[in-house]
Amino acid sequence: MCKLIKQVLLAAAAFSLSLTAAFPAFAQEAGTETVMDDDYVNAGPGAVQVPVEEEPEEPEEVSLGLFTVTGYCGCDRCSGGHNLTYSGTVPTPNHTISADISQYPIGTKLRIGDVVYTVEDKGSSVRGNVVDIFYSSHQEALDKGTYTAEVFLVQE
Ligand SMILES: [Zn+2]
Repeated sequence: MCKLIKQVLLAAAAFSLSLTAAFPAFAQEAGTETVMDDDYVNAGPGAVQVPVEEEPEEPEEVSLGLFTVTGYCGCDRCSGGHNLTYSGTVPTPNHTISADISQYPIGTKLRIGDVVYTVEDKGSSVRGNVVDIFYSSHQEALDKGTYTAEVFLVQE
Protein backbone atom coordinates (compact mmCIF):
# COMPACT_ATOMS: atom_id res chain seq x y z
CA MET A 1 0.00 0.00 0.00
CA CYS A 2 2.68 2.46 0.89
CA LYS A 3 4.15 2.15 -2.57
CA LEU A 4 0.77 2.86 -4.18
CA ILE A 5 0.19 5.94 -2.04
CA LYS A 6 3.66 7.17 -2.87
CA GLN A 7 2.98 6.81 -6.59
CA VAL A 8 -0.27 8.74 -6.29
CA LEU A 9 1.43 11.51 -4.36
CA LEU A 10 4.20 11.66 -6.95
CA ALA A 11 1.60 11.91 -9.70
CA ALA A 12 -0.15 14.72 -7.86
CA ALA A 13 3.16 16.50 -7.39
CA ALA A 14 3.98 16.13 -11.09
CA PHE A 15 0.57 17.55 -12.00
CA SER A 16 1.16 20.48 -9.72
CA LEU A 17 4.59 21.07 -11.26
CA SER A 18 3.18 21.01 -14.79
CA LEU A 19 0.65 23.67 -13.82
CA THR A 20 3.43 25.77 -12.36
CA ALA A 21 5.46 25.42 -15.55
CA ALA A 22 2.53 26.44 -17.74
CA PHE A 23 1.52 29.46 -15.68
CA PRO A 24 4.41 30.60 -13.48
CA ALA A 25 2.65 33.87 -12.72
CA PHE A 26 -0.32 31.97 -11.31
CA ALA A 27 1.61 29.33 -9.43
CA GLN A 28 0.61 30.69 -6.06
CA GLU A 29 -3.06 30.47 -6.90
CA ALA A 30 -2.76 26.93 -8.24
CA GLY A 31 -1.91 25.27 -4.93
CA THR A 32 -5.41 24.18 -3.96
CA GLU A 33 -5.38 20.77 -5.67
CA THR A 34 -3.11 19.33 -2.95
CA VAL A 35 -6.24 19.15 -0.75
CA MET A 36 -7.17 16.01 -2.73
CA ASP A 37 -4.22 14.15 -1.21
CA ASP A 38 -6.27 13.48 1.94
CA ASP A 39 -8.77 11.45 -0.08
CA TYR A 40 -6.03 9.23 -1.50
CA VAL A 41 -4.43 8.55 1.88
CA ASN A 42 -7.78 7.60 3.42
CA ALA A 43 -8.51 4.93 0.80
CA GLY A 44 -9.03 1.57 2.55
CA PRO A 45 -6.79 -1.49 2.12
CA GLY A 46 -9.27 -2.97 -0.40
CA ALA A 47 -9.02 -0.02 -2.70
CA VAL A 48 -6.60 -1.36 -5.26
CA GLN A 49 -7.47 1.17 -7.90
CA VAL A 50 -7.64 4.79 -6.87
CA PRO A 51 -10.21 6.59 -8.99
CA VAL A 52 -8.68 9.66 -10.56
CA GLU A 53 -11.07 12.47 -11.25
CA GLU A 54 -9.83 14.29 -14.32
CA GLU A 55 -10.34 17.95 -14.88
CA PRO A 56 -12.79 18.73 -17.69
CA GLU A 57 -11.01 19.50 -20.95
CA GLU A 58 -13.17 22.52 -21.76
CA PRO A 59 -11.14 25.74 -21.69
CA GLU A 60 -11.92 27.95 -18.74
CA GLU A 61 -11.80 31.70 -19.05
CA VAL A 62 -11.02 34.29 -16.46
CA SER A 63 -11.65 37.96 -17.07
CA LEU A 64 -8.51 40.02 -16.60
CA GLY A 65 -10.47 43.26 -16.79
CA LEU A 66 -10.16 46.14 -19.21
CA PHE A 67 -6.96 46.54 -21.23
CA THR A 68 -5.63 49.18 -23.57
CA VAL A 69 -5.38 47.37 -26.92
CA THR A 70 -2.97 48.70 -29.53
CA GLY A 71 -1.72 47.34 -32.87
CA TYR A 72 1.68 46.81 -34.48
CA CYS A 73 3.21 45.16 -37.52
CA GLY A 74 6.62 43.93 -38.65
CA CYS A 75 7.80 47.23 -40.09
CA ASP A 76 10.86 49.12 -38.87
CA ARG A 77 8.77 51.67 -36.99
CA CYS A 78 6.77 49.01 -35.09
CA SER A 79 9.30 46.22 -34.67
CA GLY A 80 12.64 47.91 -35.25
CA GLY A 81 13.46 45.61 -38.15
CA HIS A 82 13.05 42.40 -36.16
CA ASN A 83 11.48 39.72 -38.32
CA LEU A 84 10.72 37.37 -35.47
CA THR A 85 8.92 37.76 -32.17
CA TYR A 86 10.74 37.88 -28.84
CA SER A 87 9.98 34.16 -28.44
CA GLY A 88 11.51 33.40 -31.87
CA THR A 89 8.28 32.67 -33.76
CA VAL A 90 7.14 34.21 -37.04
CA PRO A 91 4.49 36.76 -36.03
CA THR A 92 1.05 35.78 -37.35
CA PRO A 93 -2.09 37.95 -37.67
CA ASN A 94 -5.04 36.81 -35.51
CA HIS A 95 -2.61 34.82 -33.38
CA THR A 96 0.40 36.80 -32.19
CA ILE A 97 0.01 39.26 -29.37
CA SER A 98 2.50 41.24 -27.35
CA ALA A 99 1.92 41.48 -23.61
CA ASP A 100 3.67 42.23 -20.33
CA ILE A 101 5.40 38.85 -20.07
CA SER A 102 6.20 39.38 -16.38
CA GLN A 103 2.45 38.97 -15.84
CA TYR A 104 1.43 36.98 -18.93
CA PRO A 105 4.35 34.71 -19.92
CA ILE A 106 5.13 33.55 -23.45
CA GLY A 107 2.47 31.00 -24.48
CA THR A 108 -0.34 32.53 -22.43
CA LYS A 109 -3.62 32.51 -24.36
CA LEU A 110 -5.68 35.69 -24.21
CA ARG A 111 -9.09 36.17 -25.82
CA ILE A 112 -10.12 39.57 -27.09
CA GLY A 113 -13.48 39.64 -28.85
CA ASP A 114 -13.78 36.46 -30.94
CA VAL A 115 -10.05 35.81 -31.33
CA VAL A 116 -7.84 33.81 -28.96
CA TYR A 117 -4.31 35.19 -29.21
CA THR A 118 -1.07 33.64 -27.94
CA VAL A 119 1.49 35.77 -26.13
CA GLU A 120 4.62 35.51 -28.29
CA ASP A 121 6.09 38.96 -28.03
CA LYS A 122 6.87 41.79 -25.65
CA GLY A 123 7.37 45.51 -26.05
CA SER A 124 8.92 48.37 -24.15
CA SER A 125 5.56 50.17 -24.02
CA VAL A 126 3.58 47.01 -23.24
CA ARG A 127 3.28 47.10 -19.45
CA GLY A 128 0.51 45.96 -17.14
CA ASN A 129 -2.96 46.10 -18.66
CA VAL A 130 -1.73 46.78 -22.19
CA VAL A 131 -1.65 44.37 -25.12
CA ASP A 132 -0.33 44.96 -28.63
CA ILE A 133 -1.95 42.93 -31.43
CA PHE A 134 0.11 41.96 -34.49
CA TYR A 135 -1.30 42.89 -37.91
CA SER A 136 0.05 42.03 -41.36
CA SER A 137 0.38 45.66 -42.45
CA HIS A 138 1.15 48.98 -40.82
CA GLN A 139 -2.00 50.47 -42.35
CA GLU A 140 -4.18 47.82 -40.73
CA ALA A 141 -2.46 48.34 -37.38
CA LEU A 142 -3.20 52.07 -37.71
CA ASP A 143 -6.78 51.48 -38.86
CA LYS A 144 -7.61 49.23 -35.89
CA GLY A 145 -6.22 51.94 -33.69
CA THR A 146 -6.07 52.03 -29.93
CA TYR A 147 -9.11 51.00 -27.93
CA THR A 148 -10.16 49.56 -24.61
CA ALA A 149 -11.44 45.99 -24.38
CA GLU A 150 -12.02 43.28 -21.82
CA VAL A 151 -9.33 40.60 -22.01
CA PHE A 152 -9.90 37.00 -20.95
CA LEU A 153 -7.28 34.50 -19.83
CA VAL A 154 -7.98 31.16 -21.54
CA GLN A 155 -6.93 28.16 -19.45
CA GLU A 156 -6.83 24.87 -21.35
ZN1 LIG B 1 4.24 49.01 -38.52
